Amino acid sequence: MTLNVESTAFRSTIEAVRAVEPRIADAIVNELRDQRESLKLIASENYASPAVLLAMGNWLSDKYAEGAIGRRFYAGCQNVDTVEAVAVEHAKALFGAPYAYVQPHSGIDANLVAYWAILADRVEVPHLRKFGKRQVNDLTGAEWAELRAAFGNQRMLGMSLDAGGHLTHGFRPNISGKMFDQRSYGVDPSSGRIDYQALRETAREFKPLIIVGGYSAYPRKVDFAAMREIADEVGATLMVDMAHFAGLVAGKVFTGDYNPVEHAHIVTTTTHKSLRGPRGGAVLAQPELADQVDRGCPMVLGGPLSHVMAAKAIAFAEARQPEFATYAQQIVTNSQALAEGLLRRGIQLVSGGTDNHLVLIDVHPFGLTGRQAEQALLASGVVTNRNAIPQDPNGAWYTSGIRIGTPALTSRGLGAAEMDQIADLIHTVLSSTTPSAGSKAKYQIDPVVADQVSKQAADLLAPFPLYPGVDLG
Ligand code: PLP
Repeated sequence: MTLNVESTAFRSTIEAVRAVEPRIADAIVNELRDQRESLKLIASENYASPAVLLAMGNWLSDKYAEGAIGRRFYAGCQNVDTVEAVAVEHAKALFGAPYAYVQPHSGIDANLVAYWAILADRVEVPHLRKFGKRQVNDLTGAEWAELRAAFGNQRMLGMSLDAGGHLTHGFRPNISGKMFDQRSYGVDPSSGRIDYQALRETAREFKPLIIVGGYSAYPRKVDFAAMREIADEVGATLMVDMAHFAGLVAGKVFTGDYNPVEHAHIVTTTTHKSLRGPRGGAVLAQPELADQVDRGCPMVLGGPLSHVMAAKAIAFAEARQPEFATYAQQIVTNSQALAEGLLRRGIQLVSGGTDNHLVLIDVHPFGLTGRQAEQALLASGVVTNRNAIPQDPNGAWYTSGIRIGTPALTSRGLGAAEMDQIADLIHTVLSSTTPSAGSKAKYQIDPVVADQVSKQAADLLAPFPLYPGVDLG
């Protein structure tokens, strides 16, 4: 039998790894098996193409290239310059952006680069010698307040966590929550949608330096034109974190008012979620912020991961193909089919449906916490994650929601008909699960039901093999 290129490449890689440390080779092989068997509804995960995966496994990884294209702190960066320039060229063309920075190692890093660029562009920083020799983690709350005051008490207005915002949008477990005085905007409790009037009023009163748009768990389109109007009115910089829905922007599902690149001063993203690239981040910006963003490394980033930038270039190039637009549209078609299937079975959804790649189930009516629901689904072969819902009575740890997303299963080729079957599996599990008395974590599910659903999930996936061209033998 003649093996195709992909199978040969991955087999050779695994063989080389096995010769040094078999446990790592086994983990790589087992990960493919687990991914193939998993009904993956994690909204932030996907399956990158073999070309993306293979672009990362080479000697580009060996090169240090701190700095920016043509201005490196190391000699001999001509090939890294090529890689980064090609990735930038594709990113700019893909998103219609005047400037792109493809070095961030992750979404969090991309946000930090953007925040620092905005601060550097807009704020005069006094000398901070006083804190010089101290570990920032040792600073007390009062000292952080002093530090923020030294920066002029800069303010950030981001979406609240329970409405779907991300920790990096000004919350304390992330450095953004220490750097900025933060206030949140949320959703209208009756519609579950962003209340733009309330956002405008908060912005007028709070006068933030930065308004952050974007989310991890909001199931609707966002009117970025309206957000820019609010930002302009109060003199704020509009930053949009499109980590979750970059694939929908790339695939031209979100256009006009809903395309952040057309309206924000600066846009950050991950490359591995709906965009289907390697794990990583990127920043797109208006020209006036370009110089500051370019200083991302070494200002806040370590040396660029050249092998990952190569994979980003491949992913951006793939996303420029017409098939990617079809894929992006199918993500939303599937998400809406899933939402309709759940609603038809009486399941309550935050905001009553979806416009994007994710659906947020309110599991409260089943008497369950998000954690119990997540674990019961997992035990039944359905991989989701728990998530807070607006005004969540169970807080951010146990939660009352389940977030499900369609980018990964859409990559495998599943369509609307399969989404309806998945809605049925989810309904079966949730209605067969009961909470254990006095616990927000423990639950009971009829093992026969869990077993049946696992088998049905496997049957559902069988006609849609993952990485069909990859045969590891
Ligand atoms: N921004 C948003 C909106 C996210 O949802 C996430 C991750 O889930 C991130 C940033 C962080 O991305 P990363 O894990 O690549 O740092």
